[in-house]
Amino acid sequence: MSQNRYEMSERQLELIRNQIDRLMKVPNGFYANKFAGLYPLDIKSVEDFRKLPFSDKDDLRKAYPLGLQAVPDEEVVRIHSSSGTTGTPVIIPYTRQDVEDWAIMFKRCYETAGITPLDRLHITPGYGLWTAGIGFQAGCELLGAMAIPMGPGNTDKQIKMMIDLKSTVLCATSSYALLLAEEIAKRGIGDKIHLRKGVIGSERWGEKMRNRIASELGVELYDIYGLTECYGPGIGMSCEHQCGMHYWDDYFYFEIIDPKTGEPAKFGEIGELVITTLTKQGAPLIRYRTHDLTRFIGGDCPCGREYPRIDIILGRTDDMIKVKGVNLFPAHIEEALKEVDGASSEYQVMIDHLNGKDIMTVFVEANPEADKKMVETALKDRIKAKIGITVVPKAVGMGELPRSEKKSTRIFDNRY
Ligand code: ZN
Repeated sequence: MSQNRYEMSERQLELIRNQIDRLMKVPNGFYANKFAGLYPLDIKSVEDFRKLPFSDKDDLRKAYPLGLQAVPDEEVVRIHSSSGTTGTPVIIPYTRQDVEDWAIMFKRCYETAGITPLDRLHITPGYGLWTAGIGFQAGCELLGAMAIPMGPGNTDKQIKMMIDLKSTVLCATSSYALLLAEEIAKRGIGDKIHLRKGVIGSERWGEKMRNRIASELGVELYDIYGLTECYGPGIGMSCEHQCGMHYWDDYFYFEIIDPKTGEPAKFGEIGELVITTLTKQGAPLIRYRTHDLTRFIGGDCPCGREYPRIDIILGRTDDMIKVKGVNLFPAHIEEALKEVDGASSEYQVMIDHLNGKDIMTVFVEANPEADKKMVETALKDRIKAKIGITVVPKAVGMGELPRSEKKSTRIFDNRY
């Protein structure tokens, strides 16, 4: 597959143009207001498109409750809402076609994971205002598999139903999948479980957690991507080759940008995912900043699917720091560490500004038997090769670095 698949196609451009024309006619509409003054803007190319401002969760919040609605009342069949734990929620109206499109995409996700009408899907994400549960359910029914609509909580009942109904697919967040896996291991009932696959909402989750869930449950794991502002989960999915996630470019145009400048990231480089919907009716999104970090993955996927791919979610833009002109994410350091013999997964980064220069010191705990000097040399080499930054490596003993709940506190920026 050529890289062209990642560039805006004629068809995508046409859909975007039609969508914007329609949005500009919505009386007091969200985008009619947002793009006011830019028009008449005739979008003839991707360059014209890139002149449009981004939208952000904060903009969407300001439209609460129904300011995003882009169709007449009689066409809205449902709303969903983001969790709103940090303030005003975002309400997303759906038309009948939106609901149907979402189910079609979700069915495609299941098929990408090799799930068939003979499977029994144990659905643990919540039902209700949040999009997850009902999305998993609708796609399952469209596929023709059996939905077991559990929702979250009540571990005893979860396990009983899982055994009695012979659930074959677990749909869950990574933390809930781990909780169930640990409970099943604790009770020693692994042989009564019939699970063969896990469909796990893509958030940043470590390799160790992934391996533990896979081995405790005896399942293959698949990442599913999505966000409430944009249908919900089901807009991208990993296939059996586990090399990123395919996404549905007949429904979305994806951009990956440098989160600091807003300019397109170089192909294959990590940046922030920006989503434009192509056919969404109730509340389309134009250049929506997800704050999720990922990258495009080029080349053909061994599965033969033509849908382009992004990497699994590598972090959030809030975790990003700019050092020596380079955007740096915790995921970068962790990737480099994986290739350093004798280094553990525990690290800490200090960034200081001395004599007009940024100095980045990377502390890492070395395994007791490792030669600290060799760990330091390898660490310096790997980071230079991967990120292009020369760092000061410091190997320390196991348990010498402070433990923290939050990943983001592994990087300390002392420059300002
Ligand atoms: Zn594939």
